[in-house]
Amino acid sequence: MPDFKTSPGTRDILAPHSARWRAFQNIFATNVEAAGYSYIIPPMFEDLDVFLRLGEATEVVTKEMYDFHDKGGRHIALRPEQTASVCRAFVEHRPTTPWKVWYSGPNFRYEKPQQGRYRQFDQVGIEALGVDDAFLDAEVIALASSFYAALGLKQVELSINTLGDSGDRENYSQLLALYFSKHEEKLTAESRATLARNPLRVLDSKREPDQEVIAGAPRIRESISNSASEHFAAVLRALDALNIRYKINDRLVRGLDYYRRTTFEFVSTSLEAAHTAIGGGGRYDGLVEALGGPATAGIGFALGLDRTLLACDAEGVFVAPSTDVDVFVVDTVNGEHAHELCHQLRAKGIKADRAYDLRSIKAQMKSADRSGARFALIIGSDEVSNSTVMLREMVLGKQHLVPRNEIFSELSHLLKK
Ligand code: AMP
Repeated sequence: MPDFKTSPGTRDILAPHSARWRAFQNIFATNVEAAGYSYIIPPMFEDLDVFLRLGEATEVVTKEMYDFHDKGGRHIALRPEQTASVCRAFVEHRPTTPWKVWYSGPNFRYEKPQQGRYRQFDQVGIEALGVDDAFLDAEVIALASSFYAALGLKQVELSINTLGDSGDRENYSQLLALYFSKHEEKLTAESRATLARNPLRVLDSKREPDQEVIAGAPRIRESISNSASEHFAAVLRALDALNIRYKINDRLVRGLDYYRRTTFEFVSTSLEAAHTAIGGGGRYDGLVEALGGPATAGIGFALGLDRTLLACDAEGVFVAPSTDVDVFVVDTVNGEHAHELCHQLRAKGIKADRAYDLRSIKAQMKSADRSGARFALIIGSDEVSNSTVMLREMVLGKQHLVPRNEIFSELSHLLKK
């Protein structure tokens, strides 16, 4: 038999980690639904063209896409992110604006797998379409920041920048191309290749030899329009009003070509250098139009679930919630009593489990212990003839008989303690 294993860059998420995963999504949902965002579930694959609109200079698109021809001959791609799908959905359904949505789910990128970098990874995120207001930029950032706080994370830093309007971005890109070409011999081979594709992305390089050239590069804030710089100032004022701390980082350009104006990133200072980015986002005015819709402002963020949980581990916060059952039923008669009692307990909202295969009482008590249940209900032939059940408090080892028809009220009472 072949030795079946998960494909590189994918993992099984097992308990107790899977419970933490779900709690993460629940806390996120509660936070953003409280701000008027509704849940959207976009498909996991789309026509490749949808993602190509993200821009051909984007590595996610050029190098990392999982694309294939389906049996009908369509060129399909697994989603590498969800903003493009949300914008495609906006164009398809034309909802009234502002359209505020949140999502949660896996994305796929053919990257080199390593700690904190996977080929299938989860993101939670929000997108808000149809509003240009700087207060919305600040609201979006504030929601990410309060979500991190809700998880208990403290060592998270926010960097923010503006990329100006689309014309500004193109002009700046040309300025950079000119500047970097002049200093091309000092750049690393990787950055020279990036320069040919997208001069802005050279600013992203963390490679030491590139740093000196990058330090002398022109700054975008020197070449943006008045309206873009007023918008940026208004976003910063709105963040100040909420006491949200940020660092302006004018080298922050982020990956995707469709970003305009506000762009931001959250970094965990508790993680190792290679994967400190735990989330980011920005404005993408222009993407809806690129997908065939009307000119529509848009802003959002995506937070990496896998990586944020690594940050939680590093800070020792947000441990997995318990998924233990409340009660373990031990039936030494014939298994039928456990069968019926478990069913009744579950119907009353009491979490219950049992042993199978009529094991010895010793083996069943061991299973009860392992289950983490606070109480065991033990039924032997004496209990059956007296219509009682032995209720054992697992930690204290104390036990007492309870009439069968009083079990539910007794347990409900004890479980509240
Ligand atoms: P992006 O969509 O590239 O802006 O990424 C947003 C966030 O998703 C990043 O800050 C990471 O936390 C996370 N992320 C992106 N790519 C990966 C990956 N391959 N594996 C794990 N997390 C990722």
